[in-house]
Amino acid sequence: MDLPIDRIRIEVGDITTPPSEWGVTGIVNAANESLLGGGGVDGAIHRAAGPRLLEHNKMLGGCPTGLAKITPAFDLEGRGIRHILHTVGPVWQSGDAVPIKIGDLHEDVLLASCYQQCLDLAAEHSIDVLAFPAISTGVYRFPKDRAAKIALGHVLGFLARHNTPRRVVFCCFSEADAATYRHVLDSRNEWMFSRQRG
Ligand code: ADP
Repeated sequence: MDLPIDRIRIEVGDITTPPSEWGVTGIVNAANESLLGGGGVDGAIHRAAGPRLLEHNKMLGGCPTGLAKITPAFDLEGRGIRHILHTVGPVWQSGDAVPIKIGDLHEDVLLASCYQQCLDLAAEHSIDVLAFPAISTGVYRFPKDRAAKIALGHVLGFLARHNTPRRVVFCCFSEADAATYRHVLDSRNEWMFSRQRG
């Protein structure tokens, strides 16, 4: 098995239309607590998966922030996607300046929990290649650099202990977002093992 770092891809694209060379078999939805659809990536996934997803989700009774639920991919199955993992990221409420160590804020813990829950579900359901959007960094306003550190830190840690998923794709919606992920990944030795504040 490759090293965890070699099992990560940072790509730019629409998570509902992953190119076949990515090999994506499961995608993560940044949903809201209703699980009944919304704007951003959630709206795009509901449109692409078709009305059966909404009908299915009406039976799930929603999902609390920080947790995740798995569904079939419905119309997305034609694109090789078998599962959708719906997770509810936290709304960022801590303002602009954040001189606080990652992990100290309630929002950090909830976002980390989203990644952990999705990875656990992916392992449980044998999802080979899992694609994540940048959860909470759109309408929910989580700072992108901070969110990328939480995402990469958790995924790298999980892949070090599990063979499934074999690969994780960070599906960035813009080149700028992908640049943030690449920078965070390249500088991981500075922030991942640091005990310093900031
Ligand atoms: P949240 O409410 O969790 O912030 P959003 O959907 O508003 O969710 O945004 C989360 C991230 O998903 C943002 O970085 C946004 O640019 C990105 N995004 C929006 N649509 C798509 C899509 N179709 N594919 C991949 N990423 C997307």
